Amino acid sequence: MKNIYSNIFSFNKKTLEKSVTSLKKGNVVGLPTETVYGLAGNAYSKKSVNKIYKLKKRPKFNPLIVHYSNNKAAENDVIFNDNFFKLYKKFCPGPITFVLKRKKKSKIKSSVTAGLGTVAIRFPSHRIVKSILERINFPLAMPSANLSMSISPVNAWDVADEFKKKIKLIINGGKSKIGIESTVIDLTSNPKILRPGIIGPEIINKVLKISITKKKLKIKSPGMLKKHYSPGIPVFLNQKNFNKKHAFITLGNKYKNNKNCFNLSKKSDLKEAASNLYKTFRKIKKQGFKKIYVVKIPNLGPGIAINDRLKKAAN
Ligand code: AMP
Ligand code: MG
Repeated sequence: MKNIYSNIFSFNKKTLEKSVTSLKKGNVVGLPTETVYGLAGNAYSKKSVNKIYKLKKRPKFNPLIVHYSNNKAAENDVIFNDNFFKLYKKFCPGPITFVLKRKKKSKIKSSVTAGLGTVAIRFPSHRIVKSILERINFPLAMPSANLSMSISPVNAWDVADEFKKKIKLIINGGKSKIGIESTVIDLTSNPKILRPGIIGPEIINKVLKISITKKKLKIKSPGMLKKHYSPGIPVFLNQKNFNKKHAFITLGNKYKNNKNCFNLSKKSDLKEAASNLYKTFRKIKKQGFKKIYVVKIPNLGPGIAINDRLKKAAN
């Protein structure tokens, strides 16, 4: 694919250096992670953090996830607890974010956490972001690299599409393997899932007892905002029939392969379906469809995370 903005670079020694230098200077960089692409900046720098909010047009009350190479690197910023260590041991590095209490001496800018007394931290497993994190002595504030409310990017061209020339450096790390955002779990009291992800409640429950937040609480996690992850055209859920005029997102082999049908996974593999969701939304939009119909997605395993995003897209 051609990059008309010439801000997409493949990963090598030179672009690793370039990314590190750029981040040290307080600039932002588009980086691949295993979940989705992120817009990274120094979490200890007000200037970097401001750039992130401004570029994304993200409301200031929506805090950012802070990324580290390992738990040692985070020990001055947050207060660990037993639940954290249990989950860290089992799932990190990987697609799970922990909300923990912020340490008083933490250098994390208060704009990162939207003034909350907590910090959301993650340890990504993607080799590119890991190698960058190992080369810098500050953590990366890194929300998904898309405009606020819109859907997350799953490859470097999606990032360029979102921000055009406004960002100078995007590292191409191929397609994001998981394709949806991390699971967010609040560990400040009884563990609660704030945003479902590919590491689902039944997997976490094997390590510790959790509940899924149903009742509305004040902006614990804006991933909980009702409208979010929106493809920008109306989305209708649990549909059985399709109409030739509109895009129809399907699952499994029950539906024919019409031109307006977009199959998330022919094998009905929900993990595969999750990884194809945002890519499919973007494709549909690019082809000019005005409405999206979606079949019922089973609400189990990765299906829980898919349905969470679909509901928000439909709102
Ligand atoms: P994104 O940056 O798009 O991946 O979204 C990050 C998610 O993490 C959002 O749902 C945020 O609300 C959530 N988050 C970040 N920091 C915190 C925090 N301190 N407490 C609760 N949720 C948080
Ligand atoms: Mg996001």
